Amino acid sequence: MLRNLSLLLLTAIIFSGCNSSSKQAIDHEPLVKLNYEQKISSTYDEVIANYQKLDEAWPEARLLEGGLTDCGKPLHLFVMSADRQFDPDRIRKSGKTIVMIMNAIHPGEPDGMEASMIVADDILRNHNGMRQLLDSTVVCIIPVYSIGGLLYQNPWHRTNQPEPINPGYRGNAKNLDLNRDFVKLDTENAKSFVKLFRQWDPDVFLDTHATNGSDHQHVVTYLPAQHNSMPEPVGRFFKGTMIPAMYKKMATTPYPMIPYAEYTNQSPEEGIESYVQTPRFSTGYTLLFHSLPQMIENLCYQPYVDRVKGLYHFIITMIGFSNENTDAILQVREESRQMAKTKREFPLDYELDSSKFETIEFRGFERGTDISPLTGEVRSIYDYSKPFTTTIPFYDEYKPSKMVTAPNFYVVPQAWSEVIERLKINQIEMIRLDRDSLMEVEVYYIDNLVWSARPSNGHHFHDRFTTRKEIQRIQYYRGDYLVPVNQESNYFIVNMLEPEAPDSYFRWNFFDPCLEDREWFSPHPVLEDRIFAYLNENPGARRLLDEAVAADPKLAGNRMAQMYFAYTKLGLANKWVARYPVARLN
Ligand SMILES: [Zn+2]
Repeated sequence: MLRNLSLLLLTAIIFSGCNSSSKQAIDHEPLVKLNYEQKISSTYDEVIANYQKLDEAWPEARLLEGGLTDCGKPLHLFVMSADRQFDPDRIRKSGKTIVMIMNAIHPGEPDGMEASMIVADDILRNHNGMRQLLDSTVVCIIPVYSIGGLLYQNPWHRTNQPEPINPGYRGNAKNLDLNRDFVKLDTENAKSFVKLFRQWDPDVFLDTHATNGSDHQHVVTYLPAQHNSMPEPVGRFFKGTMIPAMYKKMATTPYPMIPYAEYTNQSPEEGIESYVQTPRFSTGYTLLFHSLPQMIENLCYQPYVDRVKGLYHFIITMIGFSNENTDAILQVREESRQMAKTKREFPLDYELDSSKFETIEFRGFERGTDISPLTGEVRSIYDYSKPFTTTIPFYDEYKPSKMVTAPNFYVVPQAWSEVIERLKINQIEMIRLDRDSLMEVEVYYIDNLVWSARPSNGHHFHDRFTTRKEIQRIQYYRGDYLVPVNQESNYFIVNMLEPEAPDSYFRWNFFDPCLEDREWFSPHPVLEDRIFAYLNENPGARRLLDEAVAADPKLAGNRMAQMYFAYTKLGLANKWVARYPVARLN
């Protein structure tokens, strides 16, 4: 028996050896060759070729294709899974965490794109035992998000940034900024991403950038989603456990981090403050689904080689944290999802609590002056010969400044098909009315709207308006949609459908036709006679007009003004105008 067993074991070993060598023998040599040490960023074709090489070499890796992007090329997802399991549902059932890394959303900031290729290569070839990072975690990498932007490399992109010498372009193939498109989904890139994101439902999400803001000695600045704006259980875990662990571990590398330097009053000495990233941004969007989202903003004045290495350390640290804290992460996300289902009060806006801060170490440069070579003027510079280290306050506590109570259902008439399409892409559960129904609902009217003069991100975003509520009986039709507010996705639902939410579909112009009046009047005697007859038949309306005339002398003796008053204030005008089409049903 024993002999047979060892034979069996031997056969198994040989078999498994054959299995892994069926693609390529483990040789521990890197497969990815990059030129970042020569300050050169990879091209799109080089990036994809590198991931294809890793896919061919390792059965634990697969380069998948999602939907299309605006330039016609597919959105890729490179997945590393120790179990060779590439089905997200089965991965989740196996109790592993999923980490997703998005690169080159701004292809002039390709630091993470390079770093991710090295990370993938090193993990797969088990460099320094790094394969163990996949014990409890599956890693998904979007090699290039703005493919159209990376295909357009030019040394004069990101003009403040000396390296790499061939940065890509900030816009995508449609000249849109993808890091404003997570809600409005104007691009195929964003639609394809949202489908992937909802399918894979990553526990931890990273979006890699470089920043050209303030200057200092740090390479890596950290911009996690603002914890108070996250669903409470994940927000508490993020701020209390994950973020401190990331700072602590990175402090042991050559790249200690500071928070993304949003200076208080333009001066580092006065402190750094975090900010709430709204759903148009990757972090603000992904947090709505209980992910732990973060951005890295590398300082673009630092050498490219350090920026790539800094991000390499961060990505390894982040995967390591996910791998070591799998149970805690899965548990807190589940708690968060369950909490969201019954949550009723949602914050729509926040304000900084400047009474609370922590103290952090900051390594800066003193300010100085030199002479402009162009004009001889005195110009302000950071003096790199005068580094300093100090401690500064970091403000990272926000409190809600505007709340809304969610209804039991939102009612979305099927006419608003672009909104329905976006809710479906986000896997929001909806119920269709099976018959025409007259329903008593709560509606918003949009008042005092000031149209923005200039477009931004392809839209005339609404940032100045007020709302008021009315209860009305409204006719709905078979096939109209009810969105129940009892879902894990409640944060997303409320943020999209409450018009005053910071990145609501209303703000992004999806409901603009509701603001226009298709009916109006001219002061023709026909209308005046009709109004006169109406006032005689409706003493209440007559009284309202008489009171208005008594209060406002400009109305007296002005038939045009009185007709306007009657039409707009006495319920004669079209109720549709400025009525926000999504109603609240309780
Ligand atoms: Zn960026």
